[in-house]
Amino acid sequence: MILEKELAVAKEAVDQASRLCVAAQASLTSNEKLDKSDKSPVTVADFGAQAIVFNYLAERFPNDAAVGEEDAEDLLKPENAQLLDRIVSHVQKVNVNLDNEGVIASINRGSHKGGNEGRFWTLDPIDGTKGFLRGDQYAIALALIVDGEVELGVLGCPNLPIDKANPDSPKGSLFFATRGKGAFQAPLGEIETFQSIQTDQVSDPSMASFCESVESGHTKHDRAKRIGEILGTQVEPFRMDSQCKYAAVSRGQASVYLRLPTRPGYEEKIWDHAAGCLLLTEAGGRVSDTFGKPLDFSLGRTLQANKGIVATSASIHDKVVRAVIESS
Ligand code: AMP
Ligand code: MG
Repeated sequence: MILEKELAVAKEAVDQASRLCVAAQASLTSNEKLDKSDKSPVTVADFGAQAIVFNYLAERFPNDAAVGEEDAEDLLKPENAQLLDRIVSHVQKVNVNLDNEGVIASINRGSHKGGNEGRFWTLDPIDGTKGFLRGDQYAIALALIVDGEVELGVLGCPNLPIDKANPDSPKGSLFFATRGKGAFQAPLGEIETFQSIQTDQVSDPSMASFCESVESGHTKHDRAKRIGEILGTQVEPFRMDSQCKYAAVSRGQASVYLRLPTRPGYEEKIWDHAAGCLLLTEAGGRVSDTFGKPLDFSLGRTLQANKGIVATSASIHDKVVRAVIESS
């Protein structure tokens, strides 16, 4: 599939949304946050980033549908009028043409149900909002799904050091991939200066380094520890919020990303995995659920046929999945 224009547009949209998030994170105040009905936090930057990306996409691909994490319902409540003003003010620093109505309409573009027919974009405007609030890692994650398959993925990681070997190097990394064409990294703000990335070549899982969520509500840390023991690993996993974990495995900074279900009924969301999954596959890695099943993005807004995530460099995937099954 030739997706040159789509890739250029997606990179630019994520770059713009990343700029909004960086500015918003630097000046975040306590009245710039809401708790959603599921008790998870959402900030002016989540809404602002979704408005920027969906407006940018709609102007260039007006016929494409979109699945976004956020909707604007809460923003229409009178008690949130000030929050809406804050969002619009952040958005207008990136796009002066979006007013209150334009922001609401753009956010609400993301209500598509997903599925296995036609093409749609899926966006997590801030994946890892809890990391964003702590001043840690987060990602703007955008993917294009065509007939149920992820064909393009872009991750903006504003706090991730550009040089994986040097945590003190300048921060702000953009990652992108289109199916069959490899995986790449560029500095945010200089998205034409990219280089190809690959996973590590570790074939002995006892030598593998692991990463996992910071949040104990999002993954079972004690089960991951058991899996490490089964595989004979020596080093503690490092914890990081968001799809930055997929980026870390994709560029060989870690060998394994485990996401181990914390409760039976939870269904992973497509926007939490689509971009990262394609990036890692294109960087030479493998992604499955905790039973070794491929992720199925064709079933709607969630990965309802999958449980958890095992994302690794290719040569250790089977062994890691076996240990994950043994740990259950
Ligand atoms: P992370 O930063 O890797 O911890 O992942 C953040 C994402 O976890 C959010 O975008 C949520 O969609 C997702 N999430 C929320 N609740 C759960 C849960 N119970 N299990 C797994 N993921 C969750
Ligand atoms: Mg998310």
